[in-house]
Amino acid sequence: MKETRMNCPRGHKEMTVKKSEKKLSFRGKQFSVPVEQFVCPECGEEAGTVGQAAVIQKSIADTYRKSAGLLTGKEIVEGRKKLNLTQGDLAKKMSVGIASIKRWEGAGIQSKSMDQALRTALHGQDTGDTCTGNRSFSLPRIKLVFVELEKALGKKLLKKNDKMLFAAKYLWYADMIAHRETGQSMTGATYAALPLGPQLNNYRDLIEFIMKADSSKAEPLTPEEKRILTRIAMKFPQELMVYNAAHREQAWKGKAKGSLIPYTDSSELSAL
Ligand SMILES: [Zn+2]
Repeated sequence: MKETRMNCPRGHKEMTVKKSEKKLSFRGKQFSVPVEQFVCPECGEEAGTVGQAAVIQKSIADTYRKSAGLLTGKEIVEGRKKLNLTQGDLAKKMSVGIASIKRWEGAGIQSKSMDQALRTALHGQDTGDTCTGNRSFSLPRIKLVFVELEKALGKKLLKKNDKMLFAAKYLWYADMIAHRETGQSMTGATYAALPLGPQLNNYRDLIEFIMKADSSKAEPLTPEEKRILTRIAMKFPQELMVYNAAHREQAWKGKAKGSLIPYTDSSELSAL
């Protein structure tokens, strides 16, 4: 890696590049990764550059993926090139957004099920489900998403008399943004473009079952999913905001009423 020179921030002269192994803890595992840093020969001050930080991040991600039995970024790139696919081609084969492919080929870590999907796709087969966002439908997980959103918003979303179906819009954004950024929805729910906005199929019938569902039975939310839910809560502190935003989305506006909103539309979202 070519990096420019750096002078010691404490006013000494030029720093030298030192290669070393750094011990880090990541997702509960201990790693040692090779790092390159500038070190001042006079005072020992250490400094990295942005480029170095990115390399370290990638190195951590790949070391973690190897230890967890997941494809590394390099393996994904190589597999894709072997099939002569662009990132866009691979995204299409897997029913994910191109941003997910870019992330996985860099420092982003795919989930176990997305890793399986990647392996299948890199064997030339199409995978993915544009109705469920590459996840099987789970009521406990829907409940868990609401528990997390309600915590972040400091108010109840799940109500029996939710006439405007506000809760369903929060859930739609959670599922769609997760699909765009992780390749997978959070809950496996299927959505349709209905007059009141994008709506979970059969939401009015399901609401009772969602309220009764046991969120402790759901697969726990990943840190990435939790961050997405926090972002959604910060973006839409009021229910009317999420309602209005959903009605401005092309993914809803551009559909005939009653038709399915495929998860592949997640790349068109504009609110966040
Ligand atoms: Zn110094």
